[in-house]
Amino acid sequence: MGSLPPASQIPRTKTFVKYVKEKIRNRAKNALEQMNLELKNLEEENSILRLILSSSSDPILITSKTGHIIYVNPSWEKLTGYTFEEVHNKYPSILKSGKTPKSTYRRLWHSLSQGKPFSSEEFINKKKNGVFYKLHSSFFPISKNGKIQYYVQLQYDITERKKHDELRQEFLASASHELKTPLTVLKLIVQGHIARAKKQEKDVIKVTELHRIDQELDRLTQLVNDILDSSRFETGKISLRRDDIDITWPIMQAVKKMKIFTNEHSIKLGKFPNNLHVIADSERIEQIILNLVSNAVKYSPPKTPINIEITKQNNYAVVAVKDQGMGIPKNKLKIIFDKYYQVKDYNPQGFGLGLYIVREIIKQHRGKVWANSILGKGSTFYFSLPLI
Ligand code: ADP
Repeated sequence: MGSLPPASQIPRTKTFVKYVKEKIRNRAKNALEQMNLELKNLEEENSILRLILSSSSDPILITSKTGHIIYVNPSWEKLTGYTFEEVHNKYPSILKSGKTPKSTYRRLWHSLSQGKPFSSEEFINKKKNGVFYKLHSSFFPISKNGKIQYYVQLQYDITERKKHDELRQEFLASASHELKTPLTVLKLIVQGHIARAKKQEKDVIKVTELHRIDQELDRLTQLVNDILDSSRFETGKISLRRDDIDITWPIMQAVKKMKIFTNEHSIKLGKFPNNLHVIADSERIEQIILNLVSNAVKYSPPKTPINIEITKQNNYAVVAVKDQGMGIPKNKLKIIFDKYYQVKDYNPQGFGLGLYIVREIIKQHRGKVWANSILGKGSTFYFSLPLI
């Protein structure tokens, strides 16, 4: 649309007013047409977005920046039993079951207030009919001009998957438990045979073979115990002793045992301070050292030293197990503590459960565990426990 001509060119007749009116009418008409077109486009975009949201099979909930529900899709209505009309302008807390850990909400709001998304499997909500369901929930803050305007929540009902997981864990736990007795019996039989074969002193080959069977039985027993432990940690069915102990005691026990079984590495426990009292389960601390030292043995060449150091740092006892082995890539230093995780290409002989169990035991003791490593030079595994 053109602009008004210069004043000199405007006709000074009585049609002048008519002329101006006409111009204004035309402008208003064009502006209205433009607005209608934009509105139509917006409506079209809006209806496409609504169509996408409503046809999603994943439940979706959108709140305003104040946390009031402004949209739920049909999958959400189906999952929770609530209709949109029933929840419109309400807070999503109507679904609260009281069973989700408070720390999950704290972490959620911490992320969202910083404009970051959040995702967790720890949510347990309550449907309209009172039934609890476990869900994997992802939250995304939606910002406009740097300010949060909406929060979008995607939910996945994982109740069935969790039930299957629990059944799998129960099966693993009972199968491992059932295996323990025959393994103990087999071990006793083999050791009886070894003793008799040694007495006869003739059959060296037989003794060597029996020793190999004995070692394999130990490995199998270790695996069965690890599976049993890991499923107990996963289902929370583990009870640890909480005794006042000097942490050096179980460590010395473990080192003594490792020295008997390992003659290819020199295992050394360095000098340590007195009175390192912690509240702990002595057998579990011994188990941690056995796991870390046997890893050091597994992943470092024969004849290299394995050093164990115990120090006092602030109010913590810090234990370090150092080897001069193959090392671990930097980007794997955290995930090696995950269940079943093994660094590839190492041809490891284990199942990736040892460090997971170490981490879970330390967690139960309110301690910390971590590792440092230089590829080709060696690794150091640390754990710390609060002193009393
Ligand atoms: P695994 O039974 O495989 O040893 P772990 O959970 O004890 O299971 O260890 C997980 C992985 O971490 C191992 O497979 C190995 O790749 C790596 N790892 C653990 N300890 C060491 C170590 N001292 N040196 C090098 N790699 C290690």
